[in-house]
Amino acid sequence: PLRLLGVRKTFGDLVALDDISFEVGRGSTTVLLGPSGSGKSTLLRCINLLEKPDAGQIDLGDGPIDVGGKLSGRTVRTIRSRSTMVFQQFNLFPHLTALGNVVLAPIESRGLPRPAAEERGRELLEKVGLGDKTDAYPDRLSGGQQQRVAIARALAMDPDFLLFDEPTSALDPELAAEVVAVLADLAAENRTLVVVTHSLAFARRVADRVVFLEDGRILQDGTPEEFFGSEDARLRRFRDVIG
Ligand code: ATP
Ligand code: MG
Repeated sequence: PLRLLGVRKTFGDLVALDDISFEVGRGSTTVLLGPSGSGKSTLLRCINLLEKPDAGQIDLGDGPIDVGGKLSGRTVRTIRSRSTMVFQQFNLFPHLTALGNVVLAPIESRGLPRPAAEERGRELLEKVGLGDKTDAYPDRLSGGQQQRVAIARALAMDPDFLLFDEPTSALDPELAAEVVAVLADLAAENRTLVVVTHSLAFARRVADRVVFLEDGRILQDGTPEEFFGSEDARLRRFRDVIG
């Protein structure tokens, strides 16, 4: 599991995350919902230390690590290597093919031999429905295809946790649907996913857990049924506005 305890993050006077504690079970899909500016991206970024929390602990299953204190390069690398983030903008390298993007990190930072990395890379591209696009450069791929390459690239590092920040929000609905289908497959395979989205449909269909943030605090943490059934005025307003 992934456990956060008392994670706090400020930007100057702004408290972006205030005492966030929650647990993500292995093999579960947790969806983070909340209004714009509620802290969702900051929370994901704190989980893999793209932002350094001011205080709190992160436990990846081998004991809590104090992430508020001074962090050694080794701790940062350990935490980062266990989770991989997939962004809204796919951030593919334009000068590399789909396969080149997928194999880069396994070769460069894991030292995997190129033939083995490429064999696995082809499997992963196949898995996300891009078996026929391995040699295509990003500018010849649709947004949905680029995002699926980004997902294959994340999977290539064999992370324990996959973190997605609005993976479909830069995409037209039909392209988003292809990406949602891939996420649903990953969820069905019992990978551990944490997904920030504005899609209530996605939450309803794929989430095991819904964590609702407001102003840097967790307002509700429960099952999708609890989220969609809640009579809390703030949750109702959010559902009405988004849905
Ligand atoms: P959205 O749905 O619009 O993506 P969000 O829930 O992801 O919103 P965050 O991006 O986590 O929200 O931002 C939380 C708060 O922290 C916001 O008030 C934002 O302005 C602020 N913030 C985020 N990053 C920084 C930064 N690097 N410097 C200063 N303030 C920041
Ligand atoms: Mg965000």
